[in-house]
Amino acid sequence: MARLLFTARDFGSLTESNHQSTLHKFVTTNSIWFMRQNHGNNFQIITNKDGSPGVNRTDQEVDALITAEPGISLAVMVADCLPVLIDGSSVVAAVHVGRRGLMNEITLKVLQQMQQMNAQINSISVGPHICGNCYPLDEATAKSVWLRYPSSNINSGKPANNSSNCADLFAGLQDQVHSFSKKLQLQRFGGCTFEKLQYFSHRASGDLGRQAGVISL
Ligand SMILES: [Zn+2]
Repeated sequence: MARLLFTARDFGSLTESNHQSTLHKFVTTNSIWFMRQNHGNNFQIITNKDGSPGVNRTDQEVDALITAEPGISLAVMVADCLPVLIDGSSVVAAVHVGRRGLMNEITLKVLQQMQQMNAQINSISVGPHICGNCYPLDEATAKSVWLRYPSSNINSGKPANNSSNCADLFAGLQDQVHSFSKKLQLQRFGGCTFEKLQYFSHRASGDLGRQAGVISL
């Protein structure tokens, strides 16, 4: 059974090393890994041979971490993007998914890698992120997201005079995950980062702080 947690503003920003150390003490694993996130679709598999006890950061720019070994916590930092934690029984992953991560299918890539590692996907948990109503895009970008992931179009069923160029990334990710398995339903934790002051939100306040999602075996 995997262990998961999502932090909020009260914990402090996980961009700061003292808060990273506090989080490491809190999760009680041998090591905790943070990523150099870049909205790409690269992942890194972490083993106990990598890094050192305590707080580690990847050398490469990656937007997902995977491990099949206990004693390692994987962290994803966000301030509007989706922190995605995947419990695959014997394998776990932390994934950073914004609009670009949705379009480059990093979550699908990670699920396929986990499958190759004989994971049985139990749950996909998504922590606090910006909701569809609070995420306007320019028209062309919105249309490209809607075209690929129809559920992300928040105007479905609304009158035309009430339409907007917002995209629901959570709904879009659900579409993507369904292309991997129809049985997998995303679980949502926490509220909208843009609306709720208890979360860091880059879009709401230009905040440079980040909350985290963390998973370990
Ligand atoms: Zn919202």
